[in-house]
Amino acid sequence: MDAQVSQAETPDLPIAIIGGGFSGLGMGIRLKQAGIEAFTLFERAGEVGGTWRDNTYPGAACDVSSHLYSFSFEQKPDWTRAFAEQPEIQQYILELTEKHGLRRHVRFNTDIVHARFDGDSGLWTIQDREGNSWTARVLISGTGGLSNPKIPAIDGLDSFEGPVFHTARWDASCDLRGKRVAVIGSGASAIQVVPAIAQAVGELKVFQRTPPWIMPKMDRPMSEAEKRRYRRFPPALWLRRFWLYWAAELRAPLLISNRPVFKRLLKRLALKHIQSQVSDPALRRRLIPDYNVGCKRVLISNDWYPALQRKNVTLVDQGVKAVTPGGVVASDGQEHPVDVIILATGFEAPTAAAPLAIRGLGGMELNQAWRRGAEAYKGVTVSGFPNLFLLVGPNTGPGHTSVLVYLEKQLDYVVQAVNYMRRYRLKYLNVLPEVQKRFNQWLQTRMGNTVWVAGGCDSWYITEDGKNTSLYPGFATDYRLRVSRFRPAEYQRVALPAQRCDNPARAATTTA
Ligand code: NAP
Repeated sequence: MDAQVSQAETPDLPIAIIGGGFSGLGMGIRLKQAGIEAFTLFERAGEVGGTWRDNTYPGAACDVSSHLYSFSFEQKPDWTRAFAEQPEIQQYILELTEKHGLRRHVRFNTDIVHARFDGDSGLWTIQDREGNSWTARVLISGTGGLSNPKIPAIDGLDSFEGPVFHTARWDASCDLRGKRVAVIGSGASAIQVVPAIAQAVGELKVFQRTPPWIMPKMDRPMSEAEKRRYRRFPPALWLRRFWLYWAAELRAPLLISNRPVFKRLLKRLALKHIQSQVSDPALRRRLIPDYNVGCKRVLISNDWYPALQRKNVTLVDQGVKAVTPGGVVASDGQEHPVDVIILATGFEAPTAAAPLAIRGLGGMELNQAWRRGAEAYKGVTVSGFPNLFLLVGPNTGPGHTSVLVYLEKQLDYVVQAVNYMRRYRLKYLNVLPEVQKRFNQWLQTRMGNTVWVAGGCDSWYITEDGKNTSLYPGFATDYRLRVSRFRPAEYQRVALPAQRCDNPARAATTTA
C-alpha cells in the first residue's frame, strides 16, 4: 500500500504523528485547535494512552501532582487524588481523545519502523512493520521517552521456569497470592509495585542494586468541596495549577544544582524521612544512597520503607548475578528460590538512539548523527532531518516538575512551524547546523554544574560517554520561554516550485 497520509483541505501538507500517548494526542489537539485537520496519528497498539495504557502494574500512579500532570488547556476539576493513579490518568486521556474527535485520525496497530526523507520532493516516506508505506510533508515523533521496557541481560533469565514479566507489561493473569516473588529493581516503578503487592504475596524478595533517595509523598484524596469549587469556579483551578507550577519551579535549584548547600538540605530532609519510618539502624544504612540527592530521580513514597519491613519481605541489597530455573542468584552468590520474577528494571534509554530508523537528507541516519548522544535544537528539530519534529526530544525531560509543561510549549512551537510552512508553501524547513550546535554547546556547558553529571551516580539520563541527553538543565520557565517562538531565520527554508517571485520563503531559500 502506498498512500498519502491524509486528504484533508491541505493536501500539500499532510502530517504524520507517531505515537498515541500524551505527546501525539496533545499534538493532535493543538493542530485541530489551529484548524489543521490533515494529520494521521500512527499508534502501534490497539488503544491510545502510551505509557499510561501500558503501565498497569498494581500501585501505578504519577509522582507529579494531578493538576500539573494534565494539559493546561484541558484542565480536569475532579481529580480524585492529589497524585492520580494510572486508571484515572488513562481515563483522562481517553476522554480527551473522544472530546477532540482524535480517534478518527488514528491508525491503530500500525508500528512505524522506518522513515526516510526525500530532499527533492520534501516528503517523508514512513513504513510500518508489515511493509505498508505512507508519505507526509511533516513527521512528528511522539514516541515517548519511556516506552520500551528494558529487559536486563541476566544470565539464565530465559531458563526460569515460572512467570517473568516487566512492570510495564504486567501479567494480570498471574495470581501472586501466596507466591514467592522477586522484584528486581528499586526505582520509580519498584517503589510503587512493592507496597501494592507485599500483602498478597507469600514471600517477597526485593533486589536493590542501588538505593533511591525518597521523600514523603503529600498525597491525599481531593474533597468533594474542592472538586465542586474547581468545577464551578475555573479560576480556582487555574490558581491551584499556578501554585503547583511555581512551587516546583522554586524547588528546581535544590534538585538540579550540585551545590553542597542544596544537597545537604535535601539529604537532611530525606534522612529524616528514613529515620521516621525505619527504626532499625542496620536496615537504614542499607537504604541510604551514597550519591547526592537528585542524581537519580528523587522518588516520593510513604509506603516503600514500611513495605520493606514487613515480615514476608526481604531486602536483598545486591545486584543480580544470574537466574536459575528456580530462583534468583544475587551478586554475593546466594540463590533465592522464587516462583515469579517481576522486572522493575526501567526502560531502554530514550536519548541514546532514535525512536525508529530515520534517514534524513542524503540518506543520513539519525542514529549516526546521534552517535555521540542525541541532540536537537531546543529538543525539537534536528539539522539534516527537515520537517521532523520531536516531542519530548533530547534534553527536554524535567528533573523537578511535570513533563507536560515542557511538552505543551513544543506542541505550540510545531504548530507555529507548520503554519509558517503552509503560509509560505515550503517544501521543507531544516534547522541550521550552527544554530543547533550553539544551543547544545550552551546546554552542555550548563549541564556540567548539575547533580545529574556531578552527583556521583549512574543513571539512564547519561549516555555511555557521560553526556546527559535526557534532561533540561534549568527552570521549566526558562525552557518554555526559549521554545515559545518559532524563528524562521534559524532554519533553512526551501520553497515548493511554482512560487511567486515576491514570496519571502523563496527569497529565504536562496540565502539560507
Ligand atoms: P529505573 O528508575 O530505571 O529503575 C530501574 C531499577 O532496576 C533500578 O533500581 C536499577 O538499578 C535496577 N536494575 C536495572 N537493571 C538491573 C540489573 N541487571 N540487575 C539489578 N538491578 C537492575 O526504572 P523505573 O523504576 O521503571 O523508572 C523509570 C522512569 O520511569 C523513572 O525515572 C520515571 O521517569 C518514570 N516513572 C515515573 C513514574 C511516576 O510516578 N511518574 C512511575 C514509574 C516510572 P540501578 O539503579 O543500580 O541501575
